[in-house]
Amino acid sequence: MQFVSTRGRTPAVSFSQAVLGGLAPDGGLYVPEQWPIFREGDFADCTSLPEVAERFIAPFAAGDALAAQIPQIVREAFDFPVPLVPVGSAPGFHVLELFHGPTAAFKDFGARFLAACITRLRESAAKPLEILVATSGDTGGAVAAAFHRKPGIRVAVLYPAGLVSPSQERQLTCWGDNVRSFRVRGTFDDCQRMVKEAFADETLRARLDLSSANSINLGRLLPQASYYAHASLDFERRHGRLPSFIIPSGNLGNSLACIWARRCGLPIDRIHLASNANRPVVEFLAGEPWQPRASVATLASAMDVGNPSNMERLNHLYPHFAELAGAVTATSVDDDTIRHRIREDHAAHGVTWCPHTATAAEAWHRLPDRADRPWIVVSTAHPAKFREIVEPLVGEAVAVPASLARLEALATHRVELEPQLAALRRELLS
Ligand SMILES: *Cc1c(COP(=O)(O)O)cnc(C)c1O
Repeated sequence: MQFVSTRGRTPAVSFSQAVLGGLAPDGGLYVPEQWPIFREGDFADCTSLPEVAERFIAPFAAGDALAAQIPQIVREAFDFPVPLVPVGSAPGFHVLELFHGPTAAFKDFGARFLAACITRLRESAAKPLEILVATSGDTGGAVAAAFHRKPGIRVAVLYPAGLVSPSQERQLTCWGDNVRSFRVRGTFDDCQRMVKEAFADETLRARLDLSSANSINLGRLLPQASYYAHASLDFERRHGRLPSFIIPSGNLGNSLACIWARRCGLPIDRIHLASNANRPVVEFLAGEPWQPRASVATLASAMDVGNPSNMERLNHLYPHFAELAGAVTATSVDDDTIRHRIREDHAAHGVTWCPHTATAAEAWHRLPDRADRPWIVVSTAHPAKFREIVEPLVGEAVAVPASLARLEALATHRVELEPQLAALRRELLS
């Protein structure tokens, strides 16, 4: 299998090249040259997530240097549970819990798969790979956790001082060893600009092998598509019906993975996207012109995206608006409604949502025909990650998962940085 750019101006590359490259040289995103189509029975002997993921990813990695190692890679990356549980006694309402990984958010799947691939691809490299990540919260922690103590890799995480939650900051700074955390005296945009400037800097490029592990990497989409394959097969086996999914969406990486899984023939019915107050996707699907904007800050901060990069992959898959509008629907949920939904569902069903998951739960409540088919609400983070927001709403303490509690108790390592490339360059070269 080869991968081509959404912009079509660079030659096709292998699975490994797409994973190592991140962005295509023409500025586009890598997509598969053709879609493998799975049929009923292809997964008959697969029950666990690693078994399903191995079978699902195999055609994408066919012919690649990593092909023979995919079975080990998925077992190493997905070594935690992915439960699909009914919500209270509401019929046809389930939740897919994607928050049982080391940093308690779904980004662990992509980051851990990418780390397992990149570590193997860099085994015989002469110098370490220097991974630069600018983060507004969740991505940096997942990437740091996934690459911590991996041989041949160094990670630099840049985050804006005072603009991440206290528990997020602890997860960004608890690593040490090959992970360095930079508390930048600036905004998230400053962090992103510094990373971009570092990639363009001739001194750094001459001295270091730089990489980005960012959220548009193909190596993050395929593992995410695997959990949709696993959940939909499991649901269909148990209930004899195709599930539909509601997905909290920001950059659209998680939702695109579900769309890809359905494109490959997995038993998935409808796909509904839940946005926060950042509305470009919702407005576009309602027939308005595509209008990316600066992001607005919301309670579901990991979805504060005004110009989702994966929109380019979605348009590539469905070049005609009518097809796209037939493939996905979307709802936008504001902060007051997020608060309301967290309170209500806690009282009614005894469940505690993180603010991101609450947008999807709200979207389910708004579906006029929700009783017609079974729905799975996708839970993207554990509520304990956002307990400053959630605890006052539900009126009780949120139990912190053991893995998160362990991270939060570690000593912190961080370096304060001025928001200038010169400051970052000095640190990276020291
Ligand atoms: C990143 C993130 C999202 C948004 O996912 P996208 O793939 O960017 O759409 C939603 N919820 C949580 C908790 C996240 O960390």
